[in-house]
Formats: sequence, structure tokens, C-alpha cells
Amino acid sequence: MDGKLVVLTCGGGNGAHCLAGLSAMRPKIESRVLTLYSDEAERWAVELDSGLLITVRNDDGSKSLIKTKPSMVTKDPQKAVPGANYIFFVVPAFAHAQYLEAIAPYIEDNTVIVGLPSHAGFEFECADLLGEKANACTTVAFQSLPFVCRLIEFGKNVEILGFKDTLGASTLKGKRCNVTQSVLELPQYIFGDRPKVRRVQNYITTILMAKFIVHPSLMYGKWSQWDGRPLSEKPLFYQGIDKRQAELLSGVSDECVATAKAIEKMVPGLDMSDVIHVFDWYLNYYGDQISDKSNLMTAMRTNKAYDGLNQPMKEIEPGKYVPDFTYRYLSEDVPMGIVPMKGIAELAGVSTPYLDEVITWCQSKLNKEFLVGNKLTGKDLKDTRAPQKYDYNKLEDLFSGNLNSFRY
Ligand code: NAD
Repeated sequence: MDGKLVVLTCGGGNGAHCLAGLSAMRPKIESRVLTLYSDEAERWAVELDSGLLITVRNDDGSKSLIKTKPSMVTKDPQKAVPGANYIFFVVPAFAHAQYLEAIAPYIEDNTVIVGLPSHAGFEFECADLLGEKANACTTVAFQSLPFVCRLIEFGKNVEILGFKDTLGASTLKGKRCNVTQSVLELPQYIFGDRPKVRRVQNYITTILMAKFIVHPSLMYGKWSQWDGRPLSEKPLFYQGIDKRQAELLSGVSDECVATAKAIEKMVPGLDMSDVIHVFDWYLNYYGDQISDKSNLMTAMRTNKAYDGLNQPMKEIEPGKYVPDFTYRYLSEDVPMGIVPMKGIAELAGVSTPYLDEVITWCQSKLNKEFLVGNKLTGKDLKDTRAPQKYDYNKLEDLFSGNLNSFRY
């Protein structure tokens, strides 16, 4: 990388603290923060001079301490955005639109906009809300956060509990964007040794390959036959998977793979081979942590990375728990996850009975209507990031206009 780059982190939560802090400790980066939420900017700015402490838990159980200091925290996009080379969105997906609208007037040509993580439909939202300016930018979509992290004290202290080993990202370069360097170099420089950033073939692959099929499928499998009586403890989420949940998840994953294959046939030259079945994905990514690799169910039940992770539950009185259907496993992973996936399958002409069954139950829990029968024509489609919301009604639309650089 040549010269000093300006990195803007949008957000004020767990991940935003980590990214802004890690960026600030790199000599070739000026790190700024834009947070629009509530009084976060004021609260963080007060702490700025004392610096930010990042505690990293290492694999061997030891801890490393990093003292770091972003150069600016503000809620004013006019101060934060001009001159920014990279703009990272490190907020839950429902907040992306608000940030895009706020930064749009100040974005300069050749800016790289990064969803960390992106969730499905990030590129559609960028193209829609940035308008013509999107053509002069490159969009990068990461499949997840690079680390598991949590705030200890706002503006002062954040903890990284572990890093992923690898992390996939796709890129989409606007027609007028003149960025010449590899846009994944800078995120890798910020993350350090881990995770290794891996380029995913194209942005549709990122959507179809993403892990957010897991949460809605498991929630549906677990709670659709629940009798409504509170439980005395929180059940395990991933490691509690039963045969029915595994069959549902596997069925949804088969439909994603079938969609990728159909698209490959319809769009000459497009390679979608990164879209693999979720069972193969588990074996690839968690191979050394899984003790029984016989099938999807046993692989998830015996995945050490999932130790102690429970179903999202609300305690309605001491020792009595009911499922929390407002948690991000549904509120985020349905409208910005499996609904856009369904939208792409629909454009590719692939029928998706498993996905339809899962969406139908999830939307009832969210009090929304996305799917009517097996078509995405519900009145609440506007609250999703399905391609149909943006009037992409043919498969070709996903590879035209500002979305045309899929081979990049
Ligand atoms: P977070 O829960 O810390 O985000 C909260 C922040 O989002 C707030 O501080 C605020 O800045 C912003 N926000 C909240 N409500 C808002 C609103 N109504 N309007 C505008 N902004 C609002 O999020 P996180 O833990 O940093 O995670 C970011 C994303 O990464 C999420 O999609 C999460 O699912 C995903 N993720 C997180 C982890 C993790 O370990 N934290 C791991 C994997 C994936």
C-alpha cells in the first residue's frame, strides 16, 4: 500500500470499536468513526483522548493488550466522509440504509465501501441509495465479522474473544471506479495475520453461500411445534440440532446449490462453484473442531466452536424461558438473509419448497408478509433486501447497470 489511507468506520457497537481500534494502530492508516445512533458520538468523543483498550484472548488462554486511538469520532458525516478512502459498515444490517443516506452527499469517487459483515442485498442497497455515485465506487461484501467480540466499557474497552481463520469477501467494482490496487489488501492489513481474507467469486455467490440459512432454519425446526409452555432452561442452539432441523437446513442448502447451478447455466462464463452444501462448508471451516463428521446433524452437535451457545430466549419470570423471536436470528437473517436468497432463486426459476416453508413460518413470527404462497409478492417486501424490491425482475438485471462487474 502506498501512502496513508483514511479508513472510516460506521457504527458504535462491539465490532465498530474493534475495527476502528485495529485500524488506528496501523501506521499507514488514519482511523475515523461515524456513529449516528443516539448520543454514541458524544459519549465516545469524551473518551477519545484517553485511548481505547483492546483486550485480545489468545488461543493459548493468554491475553494481549492493545492501546490504540482513532483520530476522530463524530456524528457529522460532513466531517467524517470527505477524504475517506475506505468506508466500513460495522453495524447490524438494518442500519445500513441510514448510513448510506447520510454519507451519500459526501462520498468521493473511487471510495471502497465495505460491509463487515454485509448481509444479503448489501450491493443492491448501495446501488439504490448512492445512485450514480455507486458507479464510481467499489463495494466489498464480507461474509461475517473477522472476530467474536464484545464491548466491556463503551468508548474505552473492548474484548476480542477469538479470530476466524479465514473469511470470504466478494467485490463489485463500479463502471467508473478507478481503484487499481487489490481492495482486499487493506482489510487484510487491518486484521493482521488472522483471518486470511479469501476472495469469493462474485457477489451472488456471497449471498447464496452465507451462513444465515442456519439460524432461521434451526429456529423454525425447533419452535414451530412448540406447545407455548415456558422452559426451565435455555436449550442449546447449534449443538441441540435434531434430525428434523438438520433435514430442513440441508433442504434449504440444497436449494441454494441448485440456484447457483441454474445461474451458472443461464449466465455464460459465470463460475458459482464456491456455493457448496452447508455440510461441506462445516467440514471445510470447522474440520478440526468437529469430532463426529458422519452427517450434518452430528457435525453440528459435536462442533466445539459451538460449546455453550444457547437458543435466544427471554426470561419471563425467574427460571422460566420462552423463545425470543425478535432476536437477530430472525429479525436480521430473514429480511436481509433468506428472503434475498429466495428472490435470487425466483429469478433463476428454481423452486424452493424448503425455503418457502421456513420463510412462511418466520414471517408469521415477525408479523410480516414477504411470501405469498411461493412468490415474493408480500406487502412487506419493501422491508427486505430482495432483488425484487429494487425492481431487478430478471436474472440479467443482477449483472447489469452498476452490478455488471461480476467477473472482477
Ligand atoms: P452491535 O450489536 O454491537 O451493534 C450495536 C450498534 O449498532 C450500536 O452501538 C449502534 O451504533 C448501532 N445501532 C443499533 N441500533 C441502531 C439504530 N436503531 N439505528 C442506528 N444504529 C443503530 O453489533 P456488533 O456486535 O458490532 O455486530 C455487527 C454485525 O456483525 C451484526 O450484524 C452482527 O450480527 C454481526 N456479528 C457480530 C459478532 C460479534 O461477535 N459481535 C460476530 C459475528 C457477526
